[in-house]
Amino acid sequence: MIVILKQGITPQEKDKVRAFLTEKGFIVKEIVGQQDTVLGAVGKVSIDPRTVELMPGVSSVVPISKPYKLASRELKKEDTIVKVGKVSIGGNRVAVIAGPCSVENYDQVMTIAEQVREAGAVMLRGGAFKPRTSPYAFQGLGEEGLKILRKAGDAFDMPITSEVVSPSDVKMMAEYVDMFQIGARNMQNFELLKEVGKTGMPVLLKRGLAATIEEWLMAAEYLMASGTDQVVLCERGIRTFEKATRNTLDCSAIPVVQKLTHLPVIGDPSHATGIRDMVAPMSLAIVASGASGIIVEVHNCPEKALSDGPQSLYPSQFEKLMRDIQALCPVVGKSLERVPRKNPSTERKTGSEERAEGSVKIAFQGERGAFSEVAARRTFGEDVSVLPCHSFSDTFDAVSSGASDYAVLPIENTLGGMIYDTIDLLAIHPELTVVGEQQIRVVHSLIGTPDAEISDIKNVYSHPQGLAQCRKFLREELPGAEAIPYFDTAGAVALVAEKKDRSIAAIAGAPAAKHYGMKVIEEGIETDASNFTRFYVISREENAEAIRSGAKINKAAFLFSVADEPGSLIDAVSVFKAHGINMKKIESRPIPGKPWEYMQYVEVDLPEGIDIEKICSEIREKTTSFRVFGTFASAL
Ligand code: PEP
Ligand code: MN
Repeated sequence: MIVILKQGITPQEKDKVRAFLTEKGFIVKEIVGQQDTVLGAVGKVSIDPRTVELMPGVSSVVPISKPYKLASRELKKEDTIVKVGKVSIGGNRVAVIAGPCSVENYDQVMTIAEQVREAGAVMLRGGAFKPRTSPYAFQGLGEEGLKILRKAGDAFDMPITSEVVSPSDVKMMAEYVDMFQIGARNMQNFELLKEVGKTGMPVLLKRGLAATIEEWLMAAEYLMASGTDQVVLCERGIRTFEKATRNTLDCSAIPVVQKLTHLPVIGDPSHATGIRDMVAPMSLAIVASGASGIIVEVHNCPEKALSDGPQSLYPSQFEKLMRDIQALCPVVGKSLERVPRKNPSTERKTGSEERAEGSVKIAFQGERGAFSEVAARRTFGEDVSVLPCHSFSDTFDAVSSGASDYAVLPIENTLGGMIYDTIDLLAIHPELTVVGEQQIRVVHSLIGTPDAEISDIKNVYSHPQGLAQCRKFLREELPGAEAIPYFDTAGAVALVAEKKDRSIAAIAGAPAAKHYGMKVIEEGIETDASNFTRFYVISREENAEAIRSGAKINKAAFLFSVADEPGSLIDAVSVFKAHGINMKKIESRPIPGKPWEYMQYVEVDLPEGIDIEKICSEIREKTTSFRVFGTFASAL
């Protein structure tokens, strides 16, 4: 049952409720949600719920209808984010776990680990105990294999996961792995589930070959009832009559499971298909289905692999897949989980690294729930602390003064074009630099008071861009309503919440509706669905390294001006051509105080291994002023 606590419950009252339930024989878990704090009480015992309901500090008691209790969405509404080292699995992130099917030897694992890490994987996989169909097939290197995997994980700063097949190995394996893997064949090995659950460590639970979704969730319940709440579910294909692929990937299970449980679900395209060529398209299907990640087999020499060679990707295929996943993520409202690699030369800077993980504060322009806040959380994690600022210039001042560590500001929208405020403010803030980039898909919603229906709406507030981007919807669905420009999309939702008037609505993102407790009357109302906004992450130089370290720096932005004479601009940009640098963008901006004179804002792709200092000094010679806005890892 779910015991919903009153907002003002005292710690003593809460302890009493907990002690009462524990004494009755329940397993009790406290869950702090956005709206309520609840105690989940599960167990074999049954009591009259009224005995709990009457206790001081208890608001109400609700039974859990599903047989899986701790795993159910009824108990916990918010998505669980499973933390494996620095990697977060769940929510709006797509985490990619990659590595060989089996650990074969030191060189093999080190080679593959380096390649997958370089391409963007955040966790390393590798089997040391292999449950093979044939007793004569390679059975794995056992503890020796785990030692190798651990070394590779440490060398490339990736948490590791490996399959456990026997309850008697659990203690030993806990010394090596960061996340246990329970294989499909062992999904209902209840003694194993109990033993692994007792460690309290993260677990990747594969779906059994012939398991229903309910059986799979019951297996998760075993783990959770035994002591871990860090369970990641993994759809890896089920047995059907179809023989063309090794198994049948059940993508539909992904959204189904997400409705039923708060636990994250990922997919395994390798074991689902068994065929290398199918792995990339099915990986994309898994991400498109809303999964929080994939686990994929990669081998440096699949022809010689001791297991699952035919389904293992070549490293170059994996690299291409990572780029495709990155492009797909914003379409489905996700972002690729990235963990910058520890860079030995910056390792001493633990101060800034800790800030980047813990107490870091991000400024953005707009009210809570704004698209910029979504972009900030995508970049720094859902639980980062944010500083909403009224204007763009306040946002810059916040970073400049140290009130925040970073700012996330829009630079360009695919429909509306450049956001010049960001460039112009960067130009007058030489102490700030661009350290990263983020991209989100802008999905607009019509948002009203909780009791509002579309027929009630007479006035619609939003940022002029929001109104313009939903013109067709407004014309066709709300022809009589007045569109009223407002300073901010999320601010318009705050206004609706304040006025409590069902005849007024806002156009903004759904996160703003959630933040202010308002109703999404209609979602996806933008005229053109290909509506993306690109953001810059901006910081003072001393914080830049924490973001840049280990990231693949492949983009740069500059601001310069040239002499007012024929050919001067072409001379300056010819430096890019000479070095094989692709210029993506050039915009002329007026120089304040110098009428009809311009500075040039340029963005380029940086080829690998380019000497950026050399390029800068060459351009400097051909320009009258020159500044590097920043070098960063592209999010596109
Ligand atoms: C594996 O991941 O190596 C494996 C054996 O997977 P499954 O249990 O899904 O077959
Ligand atoms: Mn395998």
